[in-house]
Amino acid sequence: MNNVKDTLDSVDVVIVGGGIIGVSTAWWLARAGMRTALFEKGTLACEQSSRNWGWVRTLSRDLPEVPLALLANRRWQELQQQVEVGYRQNGLLYLQEGERDALDHARWLENARTYGARAELLGQREVRKRLPETARAWTGALYSASDGVAEPQLATAGIAALARDAGAMLVENCAVRGIERSAGEISAVVTERGRVRTQAVLVAAGAWSRLFCGNHGIEFPQLKVRGSALRTEPFDAKLSLSINGKDFTCRKRADGGYTVSQFSASLAELVPDSFRLMPKFIRPWIANRSIVRVRLSQRFADEWKIPRRFPTDRESPFERCRVLDPLPYAKGVNQAWARLQESFPAFRAARIAQSWGGYIDVTPDAMPVMGALPAIPGLFLASGFSGHGFGIGPAVGECMAALLCGRRPPVDLMPFSLSRFG
Ligand SMILES: Cc1cc2nc3c(=O)[nH]c(=O)nc-3n(C[C@H](O)[C@H](O)[C@H](O)COP(=O)(O)OP(=O)(O)OC[C@H]3O[C@@H](n4cnc5c(N)ncnc54)[C@H](O)[C@@H]3O)c2cc1C
Repeated sequence: MNNVKDTLDSVDVVIVGGGIIGVSTAWWLARAGMRTALFEKGTLACEQSSRNWGWVRTLSRDLPEVPLALLANRRWQELQQQVEVGYRQNGLLYLQEGERDALDHARWLENARTYGARAELLGQREVRKRLPETARAWTGALYSASDGVAEPQLATAGIAALARDAGAMLVENCAVRGIERSAGEISAVVTERGRVRTQAVLVAAGAWSRLFCGNHGIEFPQLKVRGSALRTEPFDAKLSLSINGKDFTCRKRADGGYTVSQFSASLAELVPDSFRLMPKFIRPWIANRSIVRVRLSQRFADEWKIPRRFPTDRESPFERCRVLDPLPYAKGVNQAWARLQESFPAFRAARIAQSWGGYIDVTPDAMPVMGALPAIPGLFLASGFSGHGFGIGPAVGECMAALLCGRRPPVDLMPFSLSRFG
């Protein structure tokens, strides 16, 4: 397709971004009979949605996200019955070393139960029964049998196939440069291949959402954190549960290997936005300093060159960088690999096949923004998933589609309003 006008003149909703959030929303909208066009500047799921660990979890979520996670568990099961997304409910264990971890887990569970979460606390002996191969003396665990995994390489593509079958138009290699307004309301989007008339736009642009919104005068406090992971070649460590061992994480893949990382394999690279947003992010940086390392890197100069305001009649920053593809944080993933091998000696026989990085879109309270942006009637945002948007993606799509259709979403989205940041 050269000019989008050849096939698309006017639609009910335009979605900016073809990650799991945008694609899931497109699917739900198309099923509701809305004429929907999604534009992706690279290829579907080329950024976070294909680079994540694949966890689909309720465990340890911020409490307002628990109802979304429970809804998502049901939606993943239904999806898997229709298309291959690699979903398995194989259980998730957050392992404990000592009293402090046990208390934290017990507190989370007590609160999360009031939101409907189903999980249990395991003692030392029960952990040993579930993990007979471990060489470490875990003191207990928080366990959810109903949590699971899906395959990032399959999931968004699978949902995209359903969305296309339902009538959604998904266009790759086509950036949305911005929106146009008439009498204050949205009248069109401008893509690199022409203009499409619409009155509703969902920004689901992941790590790019701040730049997109900022160009239209909307302040979305979002930074990027570089996450990393590795995968092994197919190998049987007699471990099918997914595990968070604090200094490593590990989950079985559908291809027979394992995806391995740790929460501390995260780098917050200083960029000009880090200084602009310092008042909002300084507390979370300090609170999470054992997990996220702050670094000055080449990224500062790269982002310095990106204009914060730009016109829509010429090449935009979204076309200049089709795919964010950072190197993995080698020290972080190597440490995780070493700790996994110490904890489960069977992994000493495994071979690493690949490691990779991905930029995570983070907000100051590590919760997403989902909802309408009242400053521009017709504009909606679903972004800032802060490292946990894959698992809840199908439920987020359902909720955002309901909002865009003018219906009440199945989960209360009030806690996720942009206005909470003042
Ligand atoms: C290493 C790593 C591990 C993670 N592990 C997990 C996990 O185990 N479980 C979990 O739930 N989550 C995890 N996450 C987070 C999860 O991957 C994200 O929260 C989720 O994929 C976000 O989806 P998205 O659609 O919002 O964003 P993305 O997948 O980033 O998609 C946004 C898309 O928008 C496109 N785009 C941007 N601007 C424009 C424009 N102007 N025009 C057109 N297209 C545009 C981009 O190219 C991109 O493809 C992890 C993330 C990483 C990086």
